[in-house]
Amino acid sequence: MTRATYRFRAYTIAPDTEPDAEPHTYAMTCVVCEEIGHRSEDADDAHDWVVRHLKANPEHLSYREHVTRPYRAIPGEWL
Ligand SMILES: [Zn+2]
Repeated sequence: MTRATYRFRAYTIAPDTEPDAEPHTYAMTCVVCEEIGHRSEDADDAHDWVVRHLKANPEHLSYREHVTRPYRAIPGEWL
């Protein structure tokens, strides 16, 4: 029989602001047909997809924005 000892550690969950953090990204989804536009680091670029989708589908008037922000678990004290 193997015995193991565990220690617990506190962590803080915070936005990742490190230089190597993943970028914030944006994408839009048409709620009517569920088509998803391209993901972009520029929100205006992601929103431009809505204009193009609306021109092709004038009856598709509802959209959902997806924002991806990187987070990091920062180790704290051992408990
Ligand atoms: Zn659509």
